[in-house]
Amino acid sequence: MVDYNSLIFEISRQGRVGASLPEGDVPKVALEEKLPKHLIRDIPAELPQVSELQLVRHYTALSRKNHGIDTGFYPLGSCTMKYNPKINEDIARLEGFSRIHPYQSEETVQGALQLMYELQEDLAVITGMDAVTLQPSAGAQGEWTGLMMVKAYFAEKGEKRTKVLVPDSAHGTNPASATVAGFQTITIPSNENGLVDLTELKKHVDRETAALMLTNPNTLGLFEKEIREIAAIVHDVGGLLYYDGANANAILGKTTPGIMGFDIVHLNLHKTFTTPHGGGGPGAGPVGVKTKLIPFLPVPRIEKAGDKLTLNDNHPLSIGRVKGYYGNFGILVRAYTYIRTMGHEGLRHVSESAVLHANYLQKKLVPYFDSPYSEICKHEFVLSGSKQKKLGVRTLDMAKRLLDFGYHPPTIYFPLNVEECLMIEPTETESKETLDAFAEAMIQIAKEVEENPDIVLNAPNTTSIGRLDEVQAARKPIVRYKKGIEQPLSVKVGGIDCS
Ligand SMILES: *Cc1c(COP(=O)(O)O)cnc(C)c1O
Repeated sequence: MVDYNSLIFEISRQGRVGASLPEGDVPKVALEEKLPKHLIRDIPAELPQVSELQLVRHYTALSRKNHGIDTGFYPLGSCTMKYNPKINEDIARLEGFSRIHPYQSEETVQGALQLMYELQEDLAVITGMDAVTLQPSAGAQGEWTGLMMVKAYFAEKGEKRTKVLVPDSAHGTNPASATVAGFQTITIPSNENGLVDLTELKKHVDRETAALMLTNPNTLGLFEKEIREIAAIVHDVGGLLYYDGANANAILGKTTPGIMGFDIVHLNLHKTFTTPHGGGGPGAGPVGVKTKLIPFLPVPRIEKAGDKLTLNDNHPLSIGRVKGYYGNFGILVRAYTYIRTMGHEGLRHVSESAVLHANYLQKKLVPYFDSPYSEICKHEFVLSGSKQKKLGVRTLDMAKRLLDFGYHPPTIYFPLNVEECLMIEPTETESKETLDAFAEAMIQIAKEVEENPDIVLNAPNTTSIGRLDEVQAARKPIVRYKKGIEQPLSVKVGGIDCS
């Protein structure tokens, strides 16, 4: 059922007011003297004219259309959509954290600097690295920061290295970051077990190799058991190992990238460390490095000088600043709060539960879907919709059908080396009942594909709009109020083109 009422966007009526502003105290003549004439409006801005109540209802209605971790299960593989504990918000809102300004003098923000310093130390322990920068504001920016350090490291040694090796199961940001940092990306095919193919790796590694970027467990949810050997192959030619930490939820307190042999690591605090996630940010992608890369870390670095903390710009080999001010501070406060509330044992338990949940769900679903890698997984696993595709229903259709059950679909069509891929990451914060209910929904969909495929092909059936024209929505979004526009986006509603 399409709820057409929800699509009537224009609620403005001439003369309706929802706010009262004080009279301006800038004299009009002064304004005209100060501003060039062509910058002064002749006609008032065409803002929507609505009452306060209408405005409240409008935004409340929009917020309720949104799916978030606080409204339902969100098994988006590789993204670790786990619960964000509300205590994080309480702490981030403390005045000493929320009302400080980046231009304040160091003496007045010692508490904030101490929090950042301690978070750096915690993350260094968690990753097995020797030093950490908190500046990058996303995983992708962390990757780029890490690779710029790789570049500076080899420049300092006087070595010309142009290649970055990336497995074919890697996240798209890996080759993208390598390219932006000025390297040539070489793709390493996986073997039939979904792991790095050592023969292929050896074929491509040489003295021009700057780094190998690896996610472990990889995006298939499989642990690279030969990681020590992989590290040796790259180190033997003088190359470095970069750890994409997006899957750190599987290894907390169990092992570290440092033990595995990595030299550089990024973490996604908005994934593993429960800071808000989805809708595009803000995030944080701290980067940890081994001792030999410390001189290249971004500045300013937070350092101890006696019993004071200080921001030090004086590191001549640094790649410089990678973010305005000192990183997304509010996100850092939330991650710090999470780490301190969990403690070492708590974090280890997170990974144990995340891995248990993924294996539980995998076992329940494997009889109904193709499963190219169905051995024991880490915190996520992939299924393939190729069996259903033969019956004319694609993974995209099944993902849309899941919306009717109130679930956010898993990641689909990624990693690229699995046909009709569904990548499922339940996380440790979900209950057994939720996992069972989700499995029931997936099993029902698999049965529908065989018995009544139309219901899947026409899904979603219960949401207020049907399938979006995602290309148009991304390329030509209407994000600004324009008087008289009835449609927020060019959309296909239940098969009817409403553009
Ligand atoms: C999410 C993710 C990234 C990119 O991280 P952002 O914080 O979204 O920039 C990189 N690699 C993997 C495996 C990821 O899942």
